[in-house]
Amino acid sequence: MENVADYFGCLVFNDAVMREKLPKDIYKSLKKTVSEGKDIDITVANSVANAMKTWAVDNGCTHFTHWFQPMTGITAEKHDAFISPVDGGKVILEFSGKELIKGEPDASSFPSGGLRATFEARGYTAWDPTSYAFIKDDTLYIPTAFCSYTGEVLDKKTPLLRSMEALSKEAVEILHMFGKDDVKRVITTVGPEQEYFLINKEDYAKRKDLVFTGRTLFGARAPKGQEMEDHYFGSIKTRVAAYMRDLDKELWKLGITAKTRHNEVAPCQHELAPVFATTNVATDHNQLTMETMKKVAERHGFTCLLHEKPFAGVNGSGKHNNWSISTDTGLNLLSPGSNPKENKQFLLFLVAVIKAVDEYQDLLRVSVASASNDHRLGANEAPPAIVSMFLGDELSTILESIAEGTDIAAAEKKRMELGVHVLPSIPKDTTDRNRTSPFAFTGNRFEFRMLGSSFSVSGPNVVLNTIVAKALKDFAATLKDAKDFDAAVDALIRDTYIAHKRIVFNGNNYSDEWVEEAARRGLYNLKSTPEALDTFVADKNIALFKEFGVFSPSEIHSRFEILNEEYSKSLHIEALTMGDMVNTQIIPAVSKYAGELASAIAAKKAILPSLRCTAETALVENISAMLDDLAIKTAALSSIVEKSASFGGSELAHFTRECIVPAMEDVRAVADKLELSVSHEAWPFPTYGDMLFYVD
Ligand code: ADP
Ligand code: MG
Repeated sequence: MENVADYFGCLVFNDAVMREKLPKDIYKSLKKTVSEGKDIDITVANSVANAMKTWAVDNGCTHFTHWFQPMTGITAEKHDAFISPVDGGKVILEFSGKELIKGEPDASSFPSGGLRATFEARGYTAWDPTSYAFIKDDTLYIPTAFCSYTGEVLDKKTPLLRSMEALSKEAVEILHMFGKDDVKRVITTVGPEQEYFLINKEDYAKRKDLVFTGRTLFGARAPKGQEMEDHYFGSIKTRVAAYMRDLDKELWKLGITAKTRHNEVAPCQHELAPVFATTNVATDHNQLTMETMKKVAERHGFTCLLHEKPFAGVNGSGKHNNWSISTDTGLNLLSPGSNPKENKQFLLFLVAVIKAVDEYQDLLRVSVASASNDHRLGANEAPPAIVSMFLGDELSTILESIAEGTDIAAAEKKRMELGVHVLPSIPKDTTDRNRTSPFAFTGNRFEFRMLGSSFSVSGPNVVLNTIVAKALKDFAATLKDAKDFDAAVDALIRDTYIAHKRIVFNGNNYSDEWVEEAARRGLYNLKSTPEALDTFVADKNIALFKEFGVFSPSEIHSRFEILNEEYSKSLHIEALTMGDMVNTQIIPAVSKYAGELASAIAAKKAILPSLRCTAETALVENISAMLDDLAIKTAALSSIVEKSASFGGSELAHFTRECIVPAMEDVRAVADKLELSVSHEAWPFPTYGDMLFYVD
């Protein structure tokens, strides 16, 4: 048996490989450049490129690619061979520092939201040395950022790196005030828990809706769903276990620390969680994980569904974004300390997050908005569309006592006691109990639970990093001139908590009472993507991103365009697929079935005229009536879709939400009723029962 430790990261040009393959001075210089975030020197780049090429070729590579993350949400690549012709009809293998640092893919077909005119459609990719290069399919993959020639960002990596810088700068300033002068950089860490479905490949291929849209647009509930609660953490079936083993192995080779695997709540639903990493690396790794999940599934006769809501009536899939902030000296800033002073610092960072989440609830909501995630947020399975925070009883009690502290001495005493005895030992299970909260403190990190399963984690973390940077910057301004630093910090913790405690909610987020309570507290309840997106371009949000250099106003407007367009387009495809399935599959199949039933009735009556055939006759009548209804509803849907052609941008997104979505629901309701009235053999594609309860 192979030992995992032997092959872990064998496809990665990681630190160990660099140390071995690079000349000492080059290695040192590269490390320095990376840690200080400076531009790379061309001689260093040439040397690194050469070592990378030799290592890649030794490992069977013929090509290299700049790997980037355009606004499509998936990754993009264009491969170039290392070959370069020489005399005598031969080739040599070459890879220069210039090719490593910069690439120029023809990028005219990636979404740019109007940022590029077509005549200057070329963008360029720039090496991100903070994320290791790796080998996949005999190709050397170089993680890169993607920009337009005029410098506007066209991808998901650049703003993430910018936001990490912003947070680092502000956090370091605060830490220096606390006397932590040795801290030079602060990083954010992320551990994304990834949910997914596995269904049989043959079933998938038979469903146009899954093929074209990633989710079932039709499907009556199977008699059994998830009510028996027999799947969650249940024993893993043999075929699925083989898949998971294979998947882990592929991920480990890529240096991805896949750690936890288990069955999820819905039938055929599973989860994978890695050990957390620096946000930038975690983002790259999560993209690779999703891709590998799909690829490995094919080998096992499965299709992996990453859609947020592949099946109605059972849970959809999300992604929990575990997020924390650490120093380059190894201190987790969201971990309660072991003495009152450290606890004070912890509480300050904690209230910074509270303030940030309260002031920018709308941006967090925007960062998880998509047509597919609309099926989850607000339904009774995923956190609601209302952003709130769970702190747990212990922390809430501490903050409340700080807030109430009219008698300074008594409050101080209480806080000291709490600080010493309670804070350091907040048990994980008490903070982790509330699974309904969209943003929960879980002992030494926050868990943002609103992300959809197919999301890049980039967007939500861009927002998180930037809004917390903003809160810390405000804090630094307050503390800068304080005569008594300790007293100023105490006051800041208290005042911030009092001003923003409305965002804290430790109760059941799924309850109707919370919706009312949240409205009373003045919290946002942005129910759908178009509603959420409108807040993206609010003045305060544009100002925020501009202040920290994360997005320029035009970059925000372009993203606003892209997101609205993506929303409308994906629903448009769904509506067309629905029409297609009704007209070319459901109606013909059901009509044939009704015809066969009618013929059978006629045949029986011909032999035995006294037969009444009441049940069969009623069935034919019933089916025919539903078929008529289905045709009417489908025609209505297609005329609404036609009408949508006169709108664009955000207007189209709202129209889609208000008119197309309900019309689709109408079509589905009739079709699902029909499915339950015709024989299983007559139904033109696999049912929920077929897909979700396969035997292995
Ligand atoms: P649960 O399902 O109980 O929430 P899991 O073990 O499935 O927990 O996932 C927890 C995730 O949180 C893991 O990916 C883990 O690495 C990550 N995590 C732990 N500590 C941190 C941290 N300091 N920063 C970011 N993520 C963290
Ligand atoms: Mg988990």
